[in-house]
Amino acid sequence: MSNSIANLLSNQGIGAALPMLERRMLVMHALNKTRVELITQADYELSEQEFHIVQTLFERRNQGEPVAYILGQREFFGLDLRVTKDVLIPRPDTELLVELSLKFAPPNSELLDVGTGSGAIAIAVAHQRPDLSVWAADISAAALEVARTNADTHRCKITFIESDWYNNLPTHQWHTIVSNPPYIVANDSHLFQGDLRFEPISALTDHGDGLSAYRALIAGAVIRLHAGGWLLFEHGFDQAEPVRALLHAAQFQQVQSWRDLAGIERVSGGQFSA
Ligand code: GLN
Repeated sequence: MSNSIANLLSNQGIGAALPMLERRMLVMHALNKTRVELITQADYELSEQEFHIVQTLFERRNQGEPVAYILGQREFFGLDLRVTKDVLIPRPDTELLVELSLKFAPPNSELLDVGTGSGAIAIAVAHQRPDLSVWAADISAAALEVARTNADTHRCKITFIESDWYNNLPTHQWHTIVSNPPYIVANDSHLFQGDLRFEPISALTDHGDGLSAYRALIAGAVIRLHAGGWLLFEHGFDQAEPVRALLHAAQFQQVQSWRDLAGIERVSGGQFSA
């Protein structure tokens, strides 16, 4: 069989074990061709070197490596973001947190994204709302490097700070604080399946009951939020109730949860009243 694009993508080709969408994405990446070019140039014969590159990418995917890491890229809120193994892969679920951040952040106010990772949330917000002053913190210097690159690519001016939650932040008050912290319970079986096996463990789990980040972030928020400011969190599918309870216990008002596209309560938040 020839090494044409058509053969490479066919069910008899070397990518047979992979879904067609993934085969296409990997071939586009390897050959630097668009989706349309894969069709119009279906007879294109790969050089030996190109074939080897595709083979290597297919092999990595067959071993379970996430497509986003192989491509070094993932789209989030309409923006192409660079992703490396130092950052969690941005999820569509998290777009709900962006939408709520956009809704609750007052005009010309300051917003803080804690545990920013690739910068996805902070950058999506800053991109939509140039009136906001956006800050983003992460404990990982490597993650911040990725986030800074992404912010530069999309020309977003964001204040990045290397910090273990709030610990290294200056004394300051924000109008809105948001976070998608690690919330998976220690040793949850999901950590050992699929893409999660390849993602930074400290971005996924608190190595505890899955709620320790919320406890720390809520406790520290009460001195860092302006009166009336919103605190918004993404959380796991079964954590809306405990997260609301933590917010109520800290005297937050208007405590509520919002559902993602799958109908699951995915974000909870409350308003700080001093
Ligand atoms: N949403 C991710 C997952 O369950 C977890 C991300 C996180 O812990 N913040 O796959």
